[in-house]
Amino acid sequence: MSQRTIDLDHAATTALDPLVLEAMLPYFTEQAGNPSSIHHQGRAALQALDDARELVAAVLGATMREIIFTSSGSEANNLAIKGVALAQQQRGKGRHLITSAIEHHAVLHTVEYLQAFGFEATILPVDRHGLIRPADLQAALRPDTVLVSLMYANNEIGTIQPIAELGAICRAHDVPFHTDAVQAAGSLPLNVETLNVDLLTLTAHKFYGPKGVGALYVRRGTPLLPQINGGGQERRRRAGTENVPGIVGLAAALRRAEERREWYVAHCSNLRDRLIAGVLEQVPNTQLNGDLRQRLPNNVNLAFAGIEGESLLLLLDQHGICASSGSACTSGSLDPSHVLVACGLTPEQAISSVRFSVGKDITAADIDLLLTLLPDMVARLRAVALPYREPEPTLSVA
Ligand SMILES: *Cc1c(COP(=O)(O)O)cnc(C)c1O
Repeated sequence: MSQRTIDLDHAATTALDPLVLEAMLPYFTEQAGNPSSIHHQGRAALQALDDARELVAAVLGATMREIIFTSSGSEANNLAIKGVALAQQQRGKGRHLITSAIEHHAVLHTVEYLQAFGFEATILPVDRHGLIRPADLQAALRPDTVLVSLMYANNEIGTIQPIAELGAICRAHDVPFHTDAVQAAGSLPLNVETLNVDLLTLTAHKFYGPKGVGALYVRRGTPLLPQINGGGQERRRRAGTENVPGIVGLAAALRRAEERREWYVAHCSNLRDRLIAGVLEQVPNTQLNGDLRQRLPNNVNLAFAGIEGESLLLLLDQHGICASSGSACTSGSLDPSHVLVACGLTPEQAISSVRFSVGKDITAADIDLLLTLLPDMVARLRAVALPYREPEPTLSVA
């Protein structure tokens, strides 16, 4: 008998909404034209692309020309950061970038990549709840700063940054401001005017759209060099035949996410708070990571002292429950999450942490089932756990 899957890993990805799939289907078959073709099939595809662009622009409070479709959130982040940094360098504006210690790797590794080509970077710290202090941004800005990239909401701990305030600081210094809003979509307002942002990243698969399609908002007048060269698609800012079904799906998913946002926030935050309260009450020596109030409605991240989060994930998986840990397991050694370490957790505490992220189809009964299992699982793991030790440094023999 196969058990039901309880997906508490919505921050990693979401299943396609059936209505979104329905909107996409014709563009794989009867309407499979290339938007660059001048015949009627091409024009139909171009119309679908325009409609999708108009819808995304409307949700962001932007214009159609300011929307670039990409293959992912990672590509949108790469385009925003490399595209602006290189355009600014070309104009002799400088080579200094500012980002934060808790960004997604698609931002952090892109900044590191540019550092290898002569850019300098200031990585802003966060407080123990994962919040960036606006005064730190203010202090980090320099005459040669060419771009600031700070995420809207964190994927691991759900912390929501004061984006409008951070954006106002950048604007006062005339520095372009990019935000990775991937986790915010569907939960938080996305209007680029209220947020004071010049570039904003989205990806469809985090809000019940298809995988492999993202979008970048770029404010009119923001210097940007394409990072994929070739044809003239996306107003010469991103070459390659457009993923028409994917883009149609992104727009349909964004529309649905906006339509149900109020319900979604209430639904998810009820489940979130039920889970947090239940765990803190029933599992001793457990702490909540991230901020209690400035938090995404669907995010729960908990440190279970004395265990490895990955072991708990395996036990949960045996019951059909999917969750996640921030640590990446490479060659048998656990890398503590850079986000949790930036919040001041010890490597032991970081490795003991598990993220649960709820979504539209999760019910209170699912949370209650998890709560009946967790206390015993954690107790079992604690009973067999060896005290955590840092790995021994490798001795080099002369
Ligand atoms: C998932 C995620 C990304 C990457 O998006 P992809 O479409 O999977 O490349 C970027 N930033 C954040 C905050 C994310 O959660």
